[in-house]
Amino acid sequence: LFVTFEGGEGAGKSTQIRLLADSLRDRGLTVLTTREPGGSPGAEAVRHVLLSGAAQEFGVRMEAILFAAARSDHVEQVIRPALLNGTIVLCDRFMDSSRVYQGVTGNLEGSFIDALERVAVNGVTPDCTIIFDLPAAVGLERVRRRAAMAGAPAGEQVELDRFEKEEIETHEKRREAFLAIARADPRRCHVVDAAASASDIAAAVLAIVEPLLST
Ligand code: C5P
Repeated sequence: LFVTFEGGEGAGKSTQIRLLADSLRDRGLTVLTTREPGGSPGAEAVRHVLLSGAAQEFGVRMEAILFAAARSDHVEQVIRPALLNGTIVLCDRFMDSSRVYQGVTGNLEGSFIDALERVAVNGVTPDCTIIFDLPAAVGLERVRRRAAMAGAPAGEQVELDRFEKEEIETHEKRREAFLAIARADPRRCHVVDAAASASDIAAAVLAIVEPLLST
């Protein structure tokens, strides 16, 4: 079972992945949690570049190809072998993030994104995608709070910097784009209200995943 988690910044995906992994493991299931960009040693190296200052010089096509390169390595080195093993894979961001960040707000044409997606996922597509829906202003506030916390890792400052550099409209455009993906593929995609409490979201996520456990 391959489940991906998508949404804008500050949506709380990583907390919910942790909670879901814990409750599945409590049932004796084998679970792998992973993330993009990254998830394999090679892809983590590409993540480092993509989230560094150097990436500001990259054109949108180069950036999209690097995300796809990282995804390909992650799929072949980590996700596919785990799924073949019967492991449940929970992945923080996957192909829908590329459709939204590089496709919609990166202004890349659909055919370019589709072609990259095809080669990167190479047949490994999510059985279920949970989309965390949140007003951009609420996400920004969460990212700010997290980055301000004493001892927050440097990555969170980078995330805040990226978020604040962009117009709130860009974030709202991504929100709409994720919702459009959900409408277009309702069998795979489920939207959760990410403004709810962590425990309510956890219950909603579990209710989505539970019926899939026997498949
Ligand atoms: O999930 P997280 O917020 O940690 O993702 C790291 C960053 O990578 C995000 O802030 C997002 O802007 C960026 N990203 C992207 N394109 C993707 C996936 C992530 O621009 N396909």
